[in-house]
Amino acid sequence: MVGKVGMVDLLKANLLQILFPPYCCGCGQPLVDTDDRNWCCSCLARVVYVTSPLCPLCGMGLSSDAGDHDRWCFSCLKHQPPFDKARSLVQYGDPIRTLLHRLKFNADTRVTAGLRSLVKKGGGCFENKEYDLIVPVPLFPARLRKRGLNQALVLARIFFADQSEKIDPTILIKAKNTPAQSGLGGPARRKNLVGSILVKPGTKLEKKRICLVDDIFTTGATASECSLILKEKGAANVDVVTFARA
Ligand SMILES: [Zn+2]
Ligand SMILES: [Zn+2]
Repeated sequence: MVGKVGMVDLLKANLLQILFPPYCCGCGQPLVDTDDRNWCCSCLARVVYVTSPLCPLCGMGLSSDAGDHDRWCFSCLKHQPPFDKARSLVQYGDPIRTLLHRLKFNADTRVTAGLRSLVKKGGGCFENKEYDLIVPVPLFPARLRKRGLNQALVLARIFFADQSEKIDPTILIKAKNTPAQSGLGGPARRKNLVGSILVKPGTKLEKKRICLVDDIFTTGATASECSLILKEKGAANVDVVTFARA
């Protein structure tokens, strides 16, 4: 039974929906024939979640030609990364590429509802693990000022909405303004980063279980550099969560 007041609210909501339909955050079309408040069907169909078979260590999606079981990828077999586990929610490609770009370079937080709904639909991208600290990958202070936000912090708040008190964006410091990573190959990316990330002096990390959050996992150079520094300072465990996997 819908009461009189409830009925008025319902009519109001329907009228608002008709007058101001929500728009798809991927393509900008009005969402008229779907219950989804953020995504149209065709944009949603282009979102590819990262699922098994994958590498249990770095989280890279693997071909199912060799079976559906998770197995170490060639890169992890050759060189074990310094983090304990990395997982990404979706594959990097449109419409995700555009959304993350809008967030990162235009500080466009209207995309966060769309990203949050993908996290919900995907059921998260990591096991429900208890962390002591959730640490976003830092931006160089001048770059942060120029951009207006750190996309890794925005994403950490989306992934860990119910544990926001554990998110600490001050622990890692980007101390050197390294050139943008995009456009560099693996070894150049690593060289680019050495010594550029520090832990805030006086931070106690002994035995801490940490989750590092970033927007995109490409070669893993950034995640590895941050993990190395955190473990050097005594962290017991560093998992990495990124929104997209290139
Ligand atoms: Zn769309
Ligand atoms: Zn791997």
